[in-house]
Amino acid sequence: MKTKAIRINEYGGPEVLNYTEIELSDLQSGEARIRHTAIGLNFIDTYHRSGLYPMPLPTGLGSEAAGIVEETADDVTVVKVGDRVVYTGRPADSYSERRNFDANQLVPIPDEISDEQAAALLLKGLTAWYLLNRSYPVKSGDHILLHAAAGGVGLIACQWAKHLGAKIIGVVSTTEKADLAKTHGCSQIIMANEDIAEKVKSITDGEGVAAVYDSIGRDTFFSSLNSLKPHGVMVTFGNASGPVDPFAPSELASRNSLYVTRPILAHFINTREKLLSASKALFDLVLQGVIKISINQRYALKDTAQAHMDLESRKTTGSTILIP
Ligand code: NDP
Repeated sequence: MKTKAIRINEYGGPEVLNYTEIELSDLQSGEARIRHTAIGLNFIDTYHRSGLYPMPLPTGLGSEAAGIVEETADDVTVVKVGDRVVYTGRPADSYSERRNFDANQLVPIPDEISDEQAAALLLKGLTAWYLLNRSYPVKSGDHILLHAAAGGVGLIACQWAKHLGAKIIGVVSTTEKADLAKTHGCSQIIMANEDIAEKVKSITDGEGVAAVYDSIGRDTFFSSLNSLKPHGVMVTFGNASGPVDPFAPSELASRNSLYVTRPILAHFINTREKLLSASKALFDLVLQGVIKISINQRYALKDTAQAHMDLESRKTTGSTILIP
């Protein structure tokens, strides 16, 4: 069967994304074929495209999508033809009209949640889940610092952290993003070009925050460490400005015995049981109205290069989806 998909033959900028026709292979044991109805755009897709996280070439791209199960291998029991499902995972190939994928990683979508919402929600929402409940479990009354607070992960994490009782200091680059972050739960905003650690100290009466959730990487690593209270936790989980440079452990000692963790979503959902229970925690909060999903940009799949340009030039807010 033929299908339309994005392929890259080399690493580089958005110009290396080719919208083309490919031949889908027959289903292997354990796989299902999904017809995508909505595809989630994520910052990690730009790392795969640029080669920061290298994959064997040529390759597809995309780590998240929702759709309908069209066919299953004979040994698949966890989903059936016609089911609405959403997934995140590798190999990266969700930028496509159809694909074959490990059925064990497919999550049924609740009736009340649309395919578009699911594709905008799963990867970013599960990330917010593990950041706030596993990497540093937020306690009611904690001050936390959240970078890119108006982004895809950011707006979901704001709502979830507020629900947990945190006082959220969000970092954003524009006043429009500041307004969005505030309406989604931030109590204080710091602009990205301000002295972040100094502002945090002033907001927290000199104490610092219990945890920093830093997806910016290279540019903010030390200002994030400088924003922590004694024994605070630095969760460095992304590289929007480039990867963090190597640093000496003594940097943690000299700042009051800090902790650093560098987590990856895949390690928190590496069994079907963990994937389904984390997804249930996320969907439950959506169904209760605690988390509202903001799909602020939509692009046709053939226009993925433009979507990448907008994401990397900080033009997007909330979640972005691609429509096949
Ligand atoms: P976002 O929607 O948050 O977009 C990235 C945002 O980062 C921008 O909007 C911008 O916000 C901010 N930013 C700051 N500096 C830069 C820069 N130099 N270039 C571009 N953007 C910059 O993306 P996602 O929600 O998809 O992902 C957020 C982050 O979380 C990414 O770093 C991603 O890699 C990471 N991530 C990590 C996971 C993990 O398990 N480790 C899983 C999922 C995501 P502003 O203009 O307000 O500064």
